[in-house]
Amino acid sequence: MVSWSRGKPRLYLADTDGPIDLAGLVGEEICVDIQPGFRCQHCGDQADTSPCQECQSKPPHQQCIFTPGTSCTYQDCPFPSFKRRSCAHNFVVYLVAKDCVKAGITQADRYVSRWAEQGATHGMVVARTPNRRVAGIIEEALDDVVSTESTKEWYEPLDDPKQELVTAANSCREVLTGSLEPFSVLPDDEDGFDDRIITVPVHFSGDDATVLNLPEVTVGDELQSEVLGVRGQILATKDAVVNFDHLKGEQLTVEAPAECIPAMEDAQ
Ligand SMILES: [Zn+2]
Repeated sequence: MVSWSRGKPRLYLADTDGPIDLAGLVGEEICVDIQPGFRCQHCGDQADTSPCQECQSKPPHQQCIFTPGTSCTYQDCPFPSFKRRSCAHNFVVYLVAKDCVKAGITQADRYVSRWAEQGATHGMVVARTPNRRVAGIIEEALDDVVSTESTKEWYEPLDDPKQELVTAANSCREVLTGSLEPFSVLPDDEDGFDDRIITVPVHFSGDDATVLNLPEVTVGDELQSEVLGVRGQILATKDAVVNFDHLKGEQLTVEAPAECIPAMEDAQ
């Protein structure tokens, strides 16, 4: 998977010493070879299915994580150690701009990285909650006024993402009333919305329409091309896109200039 941290996308593969610095590949010629894999996308173990049977029986592959607003039983959680690690923490409810505006939830300590991993251009926090369950309840309430699903493909960004975020945040404010109001962090005045918008780091400066028309590499393919950029989980080259979201568990070989792999020096 591609994990973004401090504005940098890094590709983590099961069998390598460290991650590949994808931002460092921009402008470089690379070779990518994709063979059918037999690994669990989650734990990296050899398996017949991905996620493997073991991982499927635990969070995060559980309904209570997918829809915490309705399915989380918080007090009598069947996965107490996962809850301590991943749910009983401050969460944020956010809006991000991609090809449309969507709402989502994530842990409060790394939301900008999460937005970058989704490939968003801009984001804005609308609520803060003490745990995943309350964030899920708010996300479900917001589903009436803003999408909670978005594309996992390359896309053309909105013409005016900031304005679209302000409009969506206004709609959210109308939902964040009554028992939900204490969690809202939206200013009373719409004029304050602009200051809350964060521009997500990007490593692409090319033409989105060109990338949109490129084929996507799949199992059995071999690609040799120059890297144009990275957005979210997708690497764009001159000849094709590599969507790591669609290649989880497969066997991937990347040939690139030595200084790009692995990025040991700042892998902490
Ligand atoms: Zn597994």
